[in-house]
Amino acid sequence: MKLKKFQVESMPEALQQIKSELGSEAVILHTKEISTGGWFGFFAKKKLEVTAAIDPVKHAVATKPLQPSQPSLQETKKEVEQILTHVPQTQSVSLATQLEAPALIKQIDTELNLQGVGESIREELKEDAFGFWYSQEKVNRTPLAVINFTRQWLKRRLQQVTIGQSSFNKKFMIFAGPTGVGKTTTIAKLAAEASIKHGKKVAILTTDTYRIAAIDQLKTYASILNVPVEVAYSLDDFHAAMEQFEAYDVVLVDTAGRNFTHDFYLKELQKTIHLSEESCLYVVLALTAKYSDMVAVLKQFNQLAVHQVIFTKRDETNSYGALINVCLNEGIGIAYVTNGQNVPDDVIPASIDHIVESVLEGMTLDGSS
Ligand code: GDP
Repeated sequence: MKLKKFQVESMPEALQQIKSELGSEAVILHTKEISTGGWFGFFAKKKLEVTAAIDPVKHAVATKPLQPSQPSLQETKKEVEQILTHVPQTQSVSLATQLEAPALIKQIDTELNLQGVGESIREELKEDAFGFWYSQEKVNRTPLAVINFTRQWLKRRLQQVTIGQSSFNKKFMIFAGPTGVGKTTTIAKLAAEASIKHGKKVAILTTDTYRIAAIDQLKTYASILNVPVEVAYSLDDFHAAMEQFEAYDVVLVDTAGRNFTHDFYLKELQKTIHLSEESCLYVVLALTAKYSDMVAVLKQFNQLAVHQVIFTKRDETNSYGALINVCLNEGIGIAYVTNGQNVPDDVIPASIDHIVESVLEGMTLDGSS
């Protein structure tokens, strides 16, 4: 029996080293946390010490190959429980068999993939979840622990961006995005929120002069909410409206989505936004859109400082991965999520908890989905 100890930062690192030095038939005999370095015990670094071995005679015995097809979560849970309860602690388990144990991690990965969570995010999560799994005492290696780890991991990562509603402290809130995503409806919902919940003096300004119906729609909402609305057909009109709304706390600006891919439109928008440092740009995207299209829209706004995204039409889809992707891949936070056509009710401020629970919604804690 050839025995070797590995001191590593994480279990995935150990697995890599064991595989390359002892081969994939190696067995892990023992794992423990150790402290290295430091001075009189201070400033010591925590590491993992993994003892692995290879039996040159026995290693010819075939280990169960990894199944190419994904087991169901129920099967996975059973498999994990069997490994945890029926394998005596003293018995060593081959590396290949141990790699089967976290099949639950792979199952979670499959579920997140179905939700549309991007591959690079899932790869990182998977690697960390494997590390988490192997750093746990065997009794703690449960499906519940892995799901909780996933939940916490996603929550921690989402803290990198600003998630949550506006406090309406910027005077001009400018809404841009493709036609039909729900900009006008969202503006009406937020006009109600700003005036009713936050007690702000609100006005609405639209530069979307392409669609007569959109102007009428906005005027109808504005009259119900008792909020003034102005239509700007030119930059001069826009200046005039700004002066007219001087005494207002919040001016919600609707823009035409039609030409969002055209340079001309972006230049116009840029002029509008740079009119004031008190402006804040929101890109409105529908959750029903393809993620690649969302990225294309966001790229168009690269040169402008996008404050946050507002996602609409949550009620029309069961895939919420884009909520995570936009935050982690594009580095842009989410202000609101709208979930229906009703003005003013169908809008909720985005929150990390809500985003993560949306994505994990299908996975129940007993391991079934
Ligand atoms: P705009 O062109 O971006 O201004 O989009 P509109 O505000 O005119 O909305 C286009 C359509 O989407 C309308 O029928 C809205 O009622 C609808 N809509 C807006 N938000 C939502 C939402 O959250 N859920 C659903 N199901 N429909 C929405």
